[in-house]
Amino acid sequence: MTELDRRGDRSPVPSDWTYAPAPESRDVVSLQERYGLFIGGEFLEPQAGERFVTVAPRDEEALAEVAQAGPEDVEAAVQSARDAFAGWSKLAGAERAKYLFRIARLLQERAREFAVLESLNGGKPIKESRDVDIPLAAAHFFYYAGWADKLEYAFPNRRPKPLGVAGQIIPWNFPLLMLAWKIAPALAGGNTVVLKPAETTPLTALLFCDVLRQAELPPGVVNVVTGDGRAGAALVDSDVDKIAFTGSTDVGKAIQRRLAGTGKRLTLELGGKAANIVFDDAALDQAVEGIVNGIYFNQGHVCCAGSRLLVQESIYEPLVDKLKQRMATLRVGDPLDKNTDVGAINSAAQLEKIQELVEAGRAEGAEIYQPPCVLPEKGYWFAPTVFTNVAQSYRIAQEEIFGPVLSVLTFRTPEEAIEKANNTPYGLSAGVWTEKGSRILWMADRLRAGVVWANTYNRFDPASPFGGYKESGFGREGGLHGLDAYLDFDGSETFGG
Ligand code: NAD
Repeated sequence: MTELDRRGDRSPVPSDWTYAPAPESRDVVSLQERYGLFIGGEFLEPQAGERFVTVAPRDEEALAEVAQAGPEDVEAAVQSARDAFAGWSKLAGAERAKYLFRIARLLQERAREFAVLESLNGGKPIKESRDVDIPLAAAHFFYYAGWADKLEYAFPNRRPKPLGVAGQIIPWNFPLLMLAWKIAPALAGGNTVVLKPAETTPLTALLFCDVLRQAELPPGVVNVVTGDGRAGAALVDSDVDKIAFTGSTDVGKAIQRRLAGTGKRLTLELGGKAANIVFDDAALDQAVEGIVNGIYFNQGHVCCAGSRLLVQESIYEPLVDKLKQRMATLRVGDPLDKNTDVGAINSAAQLEKIQELVEAGRAEGAEIYQPPCVLPEKGYWFAPTVFTNVAQSYRIAQEEIFGPVLSVLTFRTPEEAIEKANNTPYGLSAGVWTEKGSRILWMADRLRAGVVWANTYNRFDPASPFGGYKESGFGREGGLHGLDAYLDFDGSETFGG
């Protein structure tokens, strides 16, 4: 606690208004020294014996040894999912729903444990994993549990059937949430699963296997194979019926090439370079909160991050001033501290990528601002950053940085805003800030983005589909669209299939 001053007979007031540390205890998490591959309901040793260490990005502490799955392990996991499919797909929808409800409730019961582990292994602030990642992951299981016995009503006269075994590959920015986005609809539709978490953040997926055992999910219905891209590539080449991939556009393209002509279904959730567009009639203070949330939430490791701010020229100066003032109040530091707004960068490799693009921004002539903040010495850190004086052609305006770095551009007319917003290879999300409803609708009609938020940003709901246009991928996750992607229909074409 800060020291209290007594001033005369008045109530005590703190002499210093900075935040005192408020660390979340990590005692709730018990880590194993080493983890195996979760195949057929058991943790198995990788057949080739290869392992790697997963670290905490905040201080590079070694957390555990994790198995690197080889092609033979992936094959065993797919076979286990194939064996389990016969029973799982024939189970009545209401019975499948019971398992999903059970998983959802267990996630809620163990929410604190999951939140601490997510922040420890991934570097995101505990208030985000506690208030966003884990509750939303549970919400997806609840939501899809509700559909499991209503598929005939969700898709009337189309006779929905499961696809079979789904291979699912996820990134490191929302490890448990991406797992939930993929596993919940797959199971609700009667499919079985082999999931490959990202190599830097495998621990919550491994803890989730414990939840599956607690829920008594039949062995083999969900299998988890850890490892780097080699394990992902082996899963793509294995005998699965569908690949659901979330990750970078380059890897997504490689997977699409690999699957061409195989008949396997594919959905791709890839990168983004969203425009957050502020008109001169917007509520500026509210917009500043949305801008900050849009780019500094989860250190900017967000596919739909509002990484390009498009400001109407007449309000450029007051808005950028307000933004800089707000940035100076962001607390950067220990992800396990409940006051932290911006945590650690997920990995050394990602930090390098951010640094490289920021250097490119400087070299191309953009003006950089970073609020004064003391970064911890150990671990991977990057200060919240804003670039002004950015031209549309700069790399920082075109490429996904996937870090806490915002590029500011200006526009004069709504038409120009649309032209600039759509001028990237991506099309995942966008934000519009204005008091006029008609303008919001006009903009939403013209923005080539899968999601458009109006006077808010980064809002998610399990009932709302999410996905991209262009190089941001195809197929949708969430809502009925997300379920559709795991079903086959008698003779009809399906969305994103
Ligand atoms: P990445 O493509 O490097 O890795 C994603 C996953 O793919 C990891 O599990 C990785 O091990 C695996 N992988 C790597 N090479 C592979 C290969 N050849 N074959 C199969 N699997 C392979 O991406 P990343 O750096 O982990 O994640 C960041 C990217 O993910 C960003 O571009 C971001 O925009 C995107 N992303 C998109 C969404 C979305 O919903 N659109 C959500 C989160 C992240």
